[in-house]
Amino acid sequence: MTIPAYKNPTLSVSERIEDLLGRMTLHEKAGQLNQWFNLGPDQHDMVRKGEIGSGLLANSSTAGNNRQERIFAKGINEIQKIAVTESRLGIPLIFGRDVIHGYRTVAPIPLGMAATWSPGMVQAANTIAAKEARADGIHWGFSPMLDIARDPRWGRVAEGFGEDPFLAGKLAAAAVKGFQGNEQDAIPKQFPADRIVACAKHFAGYGAAEGGRDYNTTEITPQALHNIYLAPFKAAIQSGCGTVMSAFHDIGGIPLSAHRYLLSDVLKEQWGFGGFVVSDWGAVWELTNHGIAADGKHAAGLACNAGVDMDMCSMVYLGNLPALVEDGKVSEARLNDAVRRVLQIKFALGLFESPYADPDTSQAVHLLSDSLATMRQVAADSMVLLKNNGILPLRPDNLTICLSGPLADRRKELFGCWTPDGQDEEVTTLKEAIASKLGQETCLHHYDLSDDAVKLARSSDVMILAIGESSGRSGEDNCTITIDLPPGQEALVESARRMEIPVVAVVFGGRPLNLTRVMDWADAVLFAWHPGITGGLGVADVLFGDVNPSGRLPITFPRSSGQIPLYYNHRPTGRPMPPRSRRHSRYIDSLDSPLFPFGFGLSYTTFEYGNLILSPVSQASEILVTAEVTNTGGRAGTTVVQCYIRDVVASVARPVRELKGFERVSLKAGEAKTIQFRLGPKELSSLDDNGNEVFEPGRFQVWVGGDSNAELGAEFEITSDGREA
Ligand code: BGC
Repeated sequence: MTIPAYKNPTLSVSERIEDLLGRMTLHEKAGQLNQWFNLGPDQHDMVRKGEIGSGLLANSSTAGNNRQERIFAKGINEIQKIAVTESRLGIPLIFGRDVIHGYRTVAPIPLGMAATWSPGMVQAANTIAAKEARADGIHWGFSPMLDIARDPRWGRVAEGFGEDPFLAGKLAAAAVKGFQGNEQDAIPKQFPADRIVACAKHFAGYGAAEGGRDYNTTEITPQALHNIYLAPFKAAIQSGCGTVMSAFHDIGGIPLSAHRYLLSDVLKEQWGFGGFVVSDWGAVWELTNHGIAADGKHAAGLACNAGVDMDMCSMVYLGNLPALVEDGKVSEARLNDAVRRVLQIKFALGLFESPYADPDTSQAVHLLSDSLATMRQVAADSMVLLKNNGILPLRPDNLTICLSGPLADRRKELFGCWTPDGQDEEVTTLKEAIASKLGQETCLHHYDLSDDAVKLARSSDVMILAIGESSGRSGEDNCTITIDLPPGQEALVESARRMEIPVVAVVFGGRPLNLTRVMDWADAVLFAWHPGITGGLGVADVLFGDVNPSGRLPITFPRSSGQIPLYYNHRPTGRPMPPRSRRHSRYIDSLDSPLFPFGFGLSYTTFEYGNLILSPVSQASEILVTAEVTNTGGRAGTTVVQCYIRDVVASVARPVRELKGFERVSLKAGEAKTIQFRLGPKELSSLDDNGNEVFEPGRFQVWVGGDSNAELGAEFEITSDGREA
């Protein structure tokens, strides 16, 4: 018996896809574009009829907030078997899940990972996540989330890489490579068998939700869209990201799941994206709520024509696309294009040859000691030391520590949002981690009740307060009207202060928090994000100096909620903001500056930056920025050298500063190192309203230093013939 061409692995993938397309009915094609969740016996018949192309491994639309069932290869295999052996064409399902920051070995939240400023660490963490997820039979992870966010009230700020498009772009590329194992900057023709396909989401501008309220409408200028919000997505696509998720919200009245310009013109045409677009959960149906579609059929037509290839959990493609094609409302060419894109990824994942997962692999892949060690390192390196009057690092000998605060002995709270696969009992709490560091002659008291803790503090050498946000306070649909600490926590820090022993505040959180009062009262403040499965150990590593903190803020920390939005790369006004001046863009009841600027973070040593030299590289408009960084303190440490520019005069005003380069540099005490940044036309250009690079010669300023307020600066001019003036 001859096998059909599409099942013949010796043929090219495009030959196999065309053969398969030629055999599919309109109904089966629509089925490939239909994703449904929690596939159980009720869906078996649909799978049999080829009416489902993808399974979403979640049991609710709020998977990031609720406990989810553990995924086991055995369960996935059972449904896959129905698709492969009982459906007419035997097309395998692709199974997707929210693998957001780690899998079983939970990584720090993405905002925390961003604080490492280390593409290498992000890639390493995602490699572990991919291997663990694939071992359970998962093919596709709905990550990285690349929504630039300038409003920390928005709960989903925790899931992204912060406020800066350049940093987020570098981390996006690394995240994709970690998941997919790409050797090249293209969608792999064949994904390694132990990796998953990534999904850049939520395309695009979702982080600009007005008022920081999830799902809210946005107004985004074309300038901001191309230069800020799209930049990390472009970086992900250029690194070969296999899928993209269209977002829930609208920009100026056009919901993103019907946004033809962004999905088709920019993503697929301009950027040449060859993978497929899946909508966010129910977002195709929600076009009716947005007020642009009359019913499900109308919504399906709008979304498909705009460029959404797969319908996540609206169930409107399956029933309507065949009729829309027959009515001529959606062309068959467009339908085929969508199906081709989905099949392409299924072939690249090897699902036609190996549709099943090996149920015995996960034991050998999950929670490996190397993976836990990597995550511990990522966690420790993500922590940002915000204040230290010399109390840190702690020296454990003969030390009595009083540990208190609502998060001192919590497990799940260290995970953060979106951790469906983390198991609470596998987390080391901060209390356990500190206890493991203390020798026999040292002593740790832990008290839940703040009164008792304060009393006990009198007989202790130092008080550590674990405060901040619970896991459930950030993530999807978890927005706050204020970035103040949850009720009671400032009072706890204040009463600890009155005990006249040193107070160290360890703050966990999924967003920038208002730490103005805590800064006044605590002797040291460590911002630990939600640091994941080994996060307690990571905090202890930093507190006791086994790791010298090197995390840098990937997002501005305001002084109060009233300053929001506050971000470093704002445009200049006609009345800039010199300190204490009148009639400028400012508030009368607050300082204008942030509490901590973008890029900020302390170390147990100190760094100085000097010897800034600018040299032209060639005739091209390119300049080499050289600076020296010296460890001027008494111990080895790591800093992140950051390079910012400003295009002083441009036809459309450019931000007062823009990050254009960074490098993590480790130095022994007293050691100096020369760092170079190359600024070429790409770095010196901006994007116009259509996303085209525009390079305008003229004056530029450049700064190199340890945060976005770096003072070491110089100026250069590039003439229109590309030479430095
Ligand atoms: C979220 C997505 C997520 C999807 C699937 C949606 O509610 O917005 O980020 O990937 O659900 O769980």
